[in-house]
Amino acid sequence: MGKMLSNTRTYRVPPLIKQDRDRRFAAEGNPFEAMMSRFDEAATRLNLEPGLYKVLRAPEKQIIVSVPIARDNGEIEVFTGFRVLHNTSRGPAKGGIRFDMAVSLDEVKALAAWMTWKCAVVNLPFGGAKGGVICDPALMSDRELEKVTRRYTSAIIDTLGPESDVPAPDVNTNERVMAWIMDTYSMHKRHTVTGVVTGKPIAMGGSLGRKDATGRGCLVVTLAALAKKKMKVKGATVAVQGFGNVGSTAARLMSEAGMTIVAVSDKSGGVYNPKGLDIKDCLKWTGEKKFLDAYPKGKHITNEELLELKCDVLVPAALENVITSQNADNIKARIICEGANGPTTAQADAILDKKGVYVIPDILANAGGVTVSYFEWVQDRGGYFWDEKTVNERLEKIMKDSFAEVAAMSDEHDVSMRIGAYMLAISRVAAMHRMRGLYA
Ligand code: GLU
Repeated sequence: MGKMLSNTRTYRVPPLIKQDRDRRFAAEGNPFEAMMSRFDEAATRLNLEPGLYKVLRAPEKQIIVSVPIARDNGEIEVFTGFRVLHNTSRGPAKGGIRFDMAVSLDEVKALAAWMTWKCAVVNLPFGGAKGGVICDPALMSDRELEKVTRRYTSAIIDTLGPESDVPAPDVNTNERVMAWIMDTYSMHKRHTVTGVVTGKPIAMGGSLGRKDATGRGCLVVTLAALAKKKMKVKGATVAVQGFGNVGSTAARLMSEAGMTIVAVSDKSGGVYNPKGLDIKDCLKWTGEKKFLDAYPKGKHITNEELLELKCDVLVPAALENVITSQNADNIKARIICEGANGPTTAQADAILDKKGVYVIPDILANAGGVTVSYFEWVQDRGGYFWDEKTVNERLEKIMKDSFAEVAAMSDEHDVSMRIGAYMLAISRVAAMHRMRGLYA
């Protein structure tokens, strides 16, 4: 018994990471409060009924699970996982799963609500959810990662299903993780269920175009914003924070569209070259060396410096709360395309608005990923698969139409694109609630 106990411990967030997270979130409210303050403003403008306001604020379901695994050295470790379903009135809950040391229930709650609004902005028949496990995949072997994924999946299995809750990749998760989730779920159901997750490998029911979809969506809305602001595409300068799936794809596609990518960064830091970076070369570098900090063809800058660079378009495509009241005044970009979820605090919004920065809000700007997730789910359920051209054309149409609808809402009510997007999303979810009524 003594040996067993000494061999068992609960995984704790290392103090430095916790300090950093607490500082970022404490300064301007945690992400759930940040999301809620925009929700409140949009709901007030929409004159939302008080009862419905209360219903839409409250997440439908919050699950906290322990995820015990035996590590490769035989030691037992207990991780903590979450899955939050915010609202499912418009359809199955949809949203990614992240594996990250900074995951917390408040963060997952905010991210789940953002998924509700995001799916509604682009008019997908989905509600919103998010999941996460507090862990650092970089410090785990493949075997340990697979165990965490499978044990977490089985712990939340009652909520999962193509008709009820459909996960996807998010920070530090990828198609391999989705494959394990799909297999674990299918083994429990005793038959193969491809439609239980999206962002899977193509060979097991994934969709062509899904991997690039979020970055491609960023490109489409940035082109629309440049046109609206009567700015040239060719030579427009772009700084991208984050070189994961979203940031690196956005940078690559924007450079292919003729824009000049002057800076990119990852968690190790960034590189700046006012004449433009060769993104394919940066990708080759990170493919071999992992991080950008030693990339030789540019000046080294910090993530904070990147945000304040002189450029036409800034794409924050990493984590939450990076544009705050501390640095918003120093931002020089004319357009911000939010590839990440929640990169701008509510306090920073007000400053950017005053400066006339045109912000394409996260729930619109990064909705390309969940849009192609929807295509994947449709293809899995129909058992009939589309070619990449069809996927990309349909994605482009949805992103362009949604941009136009949000812009029309913001013009009509004389509000920012962010509040316009929230108003559009809340009005769609609220309409569904009114029609369905309250079951009691
Ligand atoms: N994790 C992505 C997001 O935040 C994609 C979600 C999905 O495809 O379900 O939008």
